[in-house]
Amino acid sequence: MFDYHLHLWPHSQEDAPCSIEQVAAYCQEAASRGVTQIALTEHLFRFRQGREAVGPFWEAAGGDQAMSDSMAGYIDHHCHGDLDDYVELVLTARAQGLDVLLGLEVDYYQGRMHEVAELLAQYPFDLLLGAVHWVGNWRFDHLDDPLQMAGWETAAVDACWDAYTSALEELAATRVIDVLAHPDVIKVAGNVPSHPSEWWDRIAEASLKADVAVELSSAGWRKPVGEQYPAVPLLERLVAAGVPLTTASDAHHGAAVGESIDRLCELAQQAGATSLAGFEKRQRREVAL
Ligand SMILES: [Zn+2]
Ligand SMILES: [Zn+2]
Repeated sequence: MFDYHLHLWPHSQEDAPCSIEQVAAYCQEAASRGVTQIALTEHLFRFRQGREAVGPFWEAAGGDQAMSDSMAGYIDHHCHGDLDDYVELVLTARAQGLDVLLGLEVDYYQGRMHEVAELLAQYPFDLLLGAVHWVGNWRFDHLDDPLQMAGWETAAVDACWDAYTSALEELAATRVIDVLAHPDVIKVAGNVPSHPSEWWDRIAEASLKADVAVELSSAGWRKPVGEQYPAVPLLERLVAAGVPLTTASDAHHGAAVGESIDRLCELAQQAGATSLAGFEKRQRREVAL
């Protein structure tokens, strides 16, 4: 079993220390849950190099000034890491025998993905996750921010899902990433259209067309929606279309590494999957379930 989505730092933490001891502890926690390989996939917006590559992207998004100011503050809070140090840390951990992949969680920066790709090409990544965490300037998944959550009070759920799915389609089509992380995270706060089929179809089709894998994530079980990503009907569409799958906890601290990966594997099997995707140096391979 693999856990292909892990963070070194919780969102509440501003500084970004790197240590081999932490990586070793992650591997140990994973092993205690039967997980044999992990991938560190820190957010690109945690690193100064990422910020330099995309600039103040929130200014181009237009829209509400308060949301724009909030995004600037969010990036200021998070962006203190050095990408070279992070890469060095993971490569050193591997050299010391730890089975950890070098990854990154890459957000969708509309109109800036060429610059992102140029930056990422300079590093020997094993896998790159793609994620949509905001639509325009609105961080729809920032549950503890009242301004962001107020966005849900005025928005029509269908329109939010539509904007989210369009962003995800664009991100997949850039082919800058290898795996779509938490593919239906737009449901995180519990807002789901009465008939989501249209969006499930589009997400499955975008994944197939771009030849990217899709992540099964246990993180949704810890959120208000109380459901893994993706929902079972979307998972069934992905399996039917032959889209490769990965499994992930999206843990932001050591104790949650490898959490419920076994349950995700069971779900994948119940949906008819017989294999998962493994990665190395951005090459995908099939691994029997
Ligand atoms: Zn994410
Ligand atoms: Zn994540």
